[in-house]
Parts: sequence; C-alpha cells; structure tokens
Amino acid sequence: MLSYRHAFHAGNHADVLKHLCLVLALGHLLKKDKPLCFIDTHAGPGICALDEGPATKNSEHEEGIARLMTARELPEPLDGYVELIRQFNPEGPLTLYPGSPAIARQMLPAQSRMELCELHPDDFQSLHAWAGRTRRIRVVQEDGFKRLKAPPIERRALVLIDPPYEVKQDYAVVVGALEAALRRFATGVYLLWYPLLQRPEIPGMLRGLEHLPARQLQVELKVRAPDSGGMFGSGMFIINPPFQLAEQLKTCEAALVKHLGQDAEAAFQMTIRDG
Ligand code: SAM
Repeated sequence: MLSYRHAFHAGNHADVLKHLCLVLALGHLLKKDKPLCFIDTHAGPGICALDEGPATKNSEHEEGIARLMTARELPEPLDGYVELIRQFNPEGPLTLYPGSPAIARQMLPAQSRMELCELHPDDFQSLHAWAGRTRRIRVVQEDGFKRLKAPPIERRALVLIDPPYEVKQDYAVVVGALEAALRRFATGVYLLWYPLLQRPEIPGMLRGLEHLPARQLQVELKVRAPDSGGMFGSGMFIINPPFQLAEQLKTCEAALVKHLGQDAEAAFQMTIRDG
C-alpha cells in the first residue's frame, strides 16, 4: 500500500519538529572535519510547492512553518531552522518547503554523500529529478528499512528514518530495523520520526525502542488534546544524539508550544536515556 504522499502535509507541525532536529543534529556533526554520509530511508519527493498542487488541499503548513515565519524573537536554534527555510523562499512569501533531502543538501559540504530511498513511483521520479545528475546523491527506489542493514563506507552518518506508518506493522518493523542497524553500525546517529496518535501500537513501539542498547533522546511535541481526533502531535526518537542537542531543543520548548500549539493541552516533553 503506497497511498501516502508527503506533499499533502509539507511544512506541517510534524515537519517542523522533525526538520528542526535534523538541522540541529547535522549542524553538530558537521563541526567535525571528517566525511559524513546522510541516509534518508524514506525520503519523499525532495522539495514541495506550497502554493500549488497537493499542499494547497489542506494547507497544513499554515499551522506549521508559516506560524514560525512570522514569529518574532525565536530562540537561536529555532531561528536558524527558520532562516534555512527562508533561503528556499528568497522572494519573501513562503512558496516552497524543502523536504529532508533538500535540507541536508543545503547544509552538507559539496563532497558529502547522500543516500535516498523512496518507494512511491511518482515521488521517486520527483526526487530523482530534484537530485539531478550528481554522483554524490544516490537515489534508489528501494525499501528504506533494508538500507539499514549495511553501514556507509564513511562509517560516519546521520540516518533519518521517516516512515509514513501506513501499515501498522511499521511500528514493529522500525524497532527490528534499528536493532539490526545498531548491531552493524553502532555509532550512527539515527533520527526516527513517529506520529502521536491514539493507536495501541505506539506505546509498544516506544517500549521496544527504549530497550535499544544506545544513548537516546526522545522529544515529543503535542499540539492539541489527544481526543481532538487524528494526529495530535509527533515525536523524534534520536539514537546517539550529539551532545548539546538536548540543551538546544530545550531552549525551543516555549516557542514551539506557543507558536504551534492549537489548544491548552499543547506541550513539549523530552527524555534522555544513557543506554
Ligand atoms: N523524509 C521526508 C521529509 O522529511 O521531507 C518525508 C518522507 S514521507 C513522511 C515518507 C515517504 O516514505 C513517502 O514518500 C513514502 O512514499 C515513502 N515510503 C513508504 N514506505 C517506504 C519504504 N518501505 N521505503 C522507502 N520509502 C517508503
């Protein structure tokens, strides 16, 4: 089943949390002058128009990135992410939202490699066209979970795992895939996104992840009450988080809740585990 299309959701509150974590984690890893590979197991189309096509159906970005673009006095880490989104919209109005591949490409030095997996045929085509002809970006129409079975040649990588969870088995599959990944590549930095939904599979997945033998940082942004229906927020489960990432995210807590919160139950939560 491949009915999920990320363009319908581009720039929503979940993208904001995910891409904020991505920008901050990449920023830390890039401080070291050593080759780094970016692996995106579920890459999406690469970049999305916000002013035409699928994104205009529900305009989810209006309750996500658009709220931050007009906000004043954001904490520095959040401001850095918003500034990066502005670079894709040099004319001013928000008309383009970069997906995770475009964000990583913008930040990585020219010699760094990227490996992008995308299964949906149309999104694969878009991603392939967006990547263009360059040896540094490998785009494959393959199952991203399988990509986790082998470490990159650089032996240094940030791995984003961003499944659509269209099939409920994915909640169990991510735990097994991360277990296998850590056995072969224990020092990778893994960023896993998950939705906050009233589904029994999610607590089970989180219990499985907590048992993984590695340092962990878990952040959740609840934007509204769980009984309000649908996805009420999202979380990031980060394995081997760069030092200072937790501190940086903590400084964004109040602004994220203030600008992305939709009702009085909006909240930000962070847990650190030593592994
Ligand atoms: N990472 C992107 C970003 O942040 O901009 C968004 C990715 S979107 C949430 C998930 C994508 O995974 C969809 O485009 C979907 O077609 C694709 N997909 C679903 N199952 C997959 C699989 N097993 N392997 C690779 N891609 C998959």
